[in-house]
Amino acid sequence: MNHRSIQDRLLSSGLPTPCYIIDEAKLIENGKLLKQIQDETGCKILLAQKAFSNFDLYPVLAPFLAGTEASGLYEARLGAEEMPHKECHVFCAAYREEDFDELLLYADHIVFNSPAQLKKFGVKAKNAGKEIGLRINPECSTQDGHAIYDPCAPGSRLGTTLAQWQQELTPEYVALLDGLHFHTLCEQDSDALEQTLIAVEENFGFILSKLKWLNMGGGHHITRPGYNVERLKNCISHMKNTFSLDIYLEPGEAVALNAGYLLTRVLDVVTNKDITIAIHDMSPACHTPDVIEMPYRPPLYSSGEAEEKKYTYRFAGPTCLAGDVVGDYSFDTTLSEGDHLLYEDMAIYSTYKNNTFNGMPLPDIWVANSDGTYKLLAQFGYDDFKFRLGGR
Ligand SMILES: *Cc1c(COP(=O)(O)O)cnc(C)c1O
Repeated sequence: MNHRSIQDRLLSSGLPTPCYIIDEAKLIENGKLLKQIQDETGCKILLAQKAFSNFDLYPVLAPFLAGTEASGLYEARLGAEEMPHKECHVFCAAYREEDFDELLLYADHIVFNSPAQLKKFGVKAKNAGKEIGLRINPECSTQDGHAIYDPCAPGSRLGTTLAQWQQELTPEYVALLDGLHFHTLCEQDSDALEQTLIAVEENFGFILSKLKWLNMGGGHHITRPGYNVERLKNCISHMKNTFSLDIYLEPGEAVALNAGYLLTRVLDVVTNKDITIAIHDMSPACHTPDVIEMPYRPPLYSSGEAEEKKYTYRFAGPTCLAGDVVGDYSFDTTLSEGDHLLYEDMAIYSTYKNNTFNGMPLPDIWVANSDGTYKLLAQFGYDDFKFRLGGR
């Protein structure tokens, strides 16, 4: 293996564009930190599959994790099949009767969102030997900016508030509960968790010591440089010791943070007034929908902010959507047709959320193995576009 950075190796790898590349070595590095936290605190950490579900890599992650978390039937099945012999947890804002028996085949822990859902399915799940949880809403917003990522925003459907609990839950249903679940964070440090736990204790402290476990959801940005791991460990130990609970965390992002890339190639460079636009074969609307939906600015290797370096470009996709734009970045040198670019932190919420809008092909998915070799995980064609629309 040579000593060039993985980014430089990928840029000259000759891999077809556009393609996603998952970085096995980085997944292992993230996994080691998550394992260390579990070893030191006795908590259990699950992979929230909605952020990362490239299951070919589950065997790489499995030694570091206690299992998987799912939000839907297919995710639950994927977790049960591809990370077997580990725990399989599921939370859904509302389960469907048609799916519930099948869900019982896969899930060990079933978390309900409301008293009504608990009443509807709780006894059945309990009789099937499952651990039963209720998602609570501690009504403690700790994030500003992205209201769509705030389950504690007023009017949220996610989680049972104390008022709902008091109005709707009778002792016979409370008796079904093995644990509580909350998920209120998004890309946050452990100070936000600490603040949330104060609200959890204040509102739901009365029940916690009667339960077996507390699942503190995802949104813990644990593997981000600078994240305060010590405070996280203190939070875990505090809840564990105060209420004698088993503690679960189910981060998605943190498991695969900075563990993926998207390689793309410039197809054309056009100028409109004083803006120079590079059109590349990656479409943010199709291939990184969170860039537009969240929205956020993905890191682009060896670039600077607009105007920071000598040549500024606006990067955009090949579709006919006017807003199919990534953003403005600058470079030390000019770009021209055929140049390759590398977007970073592309393992999360990417391969899982892409689409074929405008008849754009789906990018290949490759893995960069820790030994320096590359392996193709998935390749797509016309049929993947066509047969989602009919014709079967
Ligand atoms: C999204 C989600 C997660 C994972 O969140 P990240 O921000 O990716 O860590 C965990 N649990 C639930 C219930 C979720 O909805």
